[in-house]
Amino acid sequence: MDLSKYIRNVPNWPKHGVQFKDITTLCKEAIPFRETCERIANQYKEKKIIKVAAIEARGYVFGGVVAYLLGVGFVLIRKIGKLPYTTIDESYELEYGSDSIHMHIDAISSGDKVLILDDLLATGGTAAAACRLVEKAGGIVEGLIFVIELTGSLHGRDNLKGYDIHSLIKMPVEDE
Ligand code: AMP
Repeated sequence: MDLSKYIRNVPNWPKHGVQFKDITTLCKEAIPFRETCERIANQYKEKKIIKVAAIEARGYVFGGVVAYLLGVGFVLIRKIGKLPYTTIDESYELEYGSDSIHMHIDAISSGDKVLILDDLLATGGTAAAACRLVEKAGGIVEGLIFVIELTGSLHGRDNLKGYDIHSLIKMPVEDE
């Protein structure tokens, strides 16, 4: 199944020059949505993952399902100010702006093998911050997986050197 057919490109959103990759057109279709979650889980089913950590908000769409399929716990990495208990935080640069993420201090235990999941890899800044959070908590980043990877001039993988990285759909950023 060609999952890329289900991604909608929205030009100039949320600001001029950004080609926004809309996953809602994939999620609303039962078979492609299930296929996406199963492909992610299958990639890591032999890796003895202990937790799936997904990044707010679109990472959650797939993250809970993948954690369920792998039979492991689910960790919420959220935008700053959203979690009620003691947190650890990290800042990062976005393709459009900058931001911070945080996670509950007890979300991950020392030695936990963690799969980090998000909808899209652009510059890799968000995912690199997520890796730092997991490692600050004592977790081991077993891998990172993205539904979409923007290839070309953004060089997202360069920000994530040394990690095991997978993506289901590769879209060249220059071709948009
Ligand atoms: P980055 O940190 O540059 O890799 O950006 C990845 C994060 O920003 C992910 O959480 C995405 O949801 C979001 N994002 C960045 N660029 C786009 C884009 N072109 N389309 C959709 N989401 C994007």
